[in-house]
Amino acid sequence: MNVLVTGGAGYIGSHAALRLLETGHAVTIVDDLSRGRRAAVDRLEPLGDLAFVETDIGARERVAGVFRDRRIDLVMHFGALAYVGESVEQPLRYYRSNAAGTLAVLEAMEDAGVTRIVFSSTCATYGAPSSEDIPITEDCPPQPINPYGRSKLMAERMVTDLADRKRAGGGDFAATILRYFNVTGCDPAGRLGEDHRPETHLVPICLEAALGGRPNVSIFGTDYATPDGTCIRDYVHVDDLIDAHLASMEALAPGDVRTYNVGTGRGHSVREVVDACRRVTGVDFDVTEAPRRPGDPPVLYADPSRIGRDLGWTARRTDLDTTIADAWRWKREHPNGYE
Ligand code: UDP
Repeated sequence: MNVLVTGGAGYIGSHAALRLLETGHAVTIVDDLSRGRRAAVDRLEPLGDLAFVETDIGARERVAGVFRDRRIDLVMHFGALAYVGESVEQPLRYYRSNAAGTLAVLEAMEDAGVTRIVFSSTCATYGAPSSEDIPITEDCPPQPINPYGRSKLMAERMVTDLADRKRAGGGDFAATILRYFNVTGCDPAGRLGEDHRPETHLVPICLEAALGGRPNVSIFGTDYATPDGTCIRDYVHVDDLIDAHLASMEALAPGDVRTYNVGTGRGHSVREVVDACRRVTGVDFDVTEAPRRPGDPPVLYADPSRIGRDLGWTARRTDLDTTIADAWRWKREHPNGYE
């Protein structure tokens, strides 16, 4: 299949592109490199039929040309901004990238007559579910509490509204919306990794501290109503997440929109993650307690049973230490990321 991967130079998009190439698909990456890494694309280039186009997804003529020239069959739309804290600081930037960006993708698909999409969404669409909604099923009412979650929910609605319209018109539009939990780890073979600028995610920050690149790790909030007072998240290995994309792609059914949680079904507190990072690295890096980070819900972990039932997907790498060990191996070999 000819797959357009938006955001394919980014952390998750590049891992998807890697797997698609390895399984014989032709991949076209569209990325404006605002967060993605050209060096990640360079690593993918020898692996198969890959084209890279550096552009904003909103450049309509250019993107139309890409759909035409590469005879795109299906879109995996990863391209987005994904930092909760930054979204609170710069909300319009998030609406532009995540909401308007998805609008541009859907318009480009419509222009090109492409009817299949796997869309990257997030558990941030749920907001701060009450304790009876934990673990979170897809039926939990989406009530996002930060601009990141709201911008992604808007994008979801665009996908589902378009799908409804197409279905009513007898069209064969097919979409799967994957709501990611906290994606962690990297390609177990070490070809790709996580290289965010700026880095805000807990696991890579701990690994940077273990390498001596930061004086300490701040724990954002120790007064949450959780057993150890810190936030609980569901850390899913990027390789498992990509399995979910491939399974979704293969199962896309004309006229159908599906929404799935992609998580392990287990929650770990910030303190547990810090301890796991200390264990895996063997470095007892310093930790300081800091105020809560705006926009952070206390507890988010998935009930992933729907995707298990429908697609047979389940997280295979559920041991946090193993997931962190993959990230650590890459980090140690690439202390400056792809540079
Ligand atoms: N976190 C933290 N210190 C950091 C980075 C993150 O305490 O330096 C916490 C953050 O407040 C959240 C959890 O770790 O509760 C996971 O945050 P991350 O940014 O990795 O992912 P998010 O849940 O925002 O997608």
